[in-house]
Amino acid sequence: MSDSIFTRIIKRELPADIVYEDDDIIAFRDINPQAPTHVLIVPKVEIATVNDIKPEQAELIGNLVLVAQKIALDEGIAEDGFRLVVNCNRHGCQEVFHLHMHLVGGRQLRGISAS
Ligand code: 5GP
Repeated sequence: MSDSIFTRIIKRELPADIVYEDDDIIAFRDINPQAPTHVLIVPKVEIATVNDIKPEQAELIGNLVLVAQKIALDEGIAEDGFRLVVNCNRHGCQEVFHLHMHLVGGRQLRGISAS
């Protein structure tokens, strides 16, 4: 199977504005930001969707939230608040099938809609 777009960013085959990296997780700014801060937090291992997360990956998945917490602080948006989003498959409007968490903030967001 060919590498995902995000694996190509991890391998530095594609450019990205990287704001955080450790052995297991990378975070970079979304190419099409929906708010002043829009960062994608991505496990380096390719997990296609939320449906594919295994129980033994629970710590990794938890660490995505801790990285989001750190980036929100670094970006100065923690106190005002922000949104974390993980889209899954067609009804969730997932476009990139390499698990990622959106960190969105820096402006007043609208209430979450079911539509
Ligand atoms: P999804 O709909 O899968 O949850 O979100 C995928 C996100 O990845 C979109 O917000 C899109 O703008 C972003 N994206 C797609 N391709 C690239 C890319 O090559 N670089 C960066 N930085 N973001 C990308």
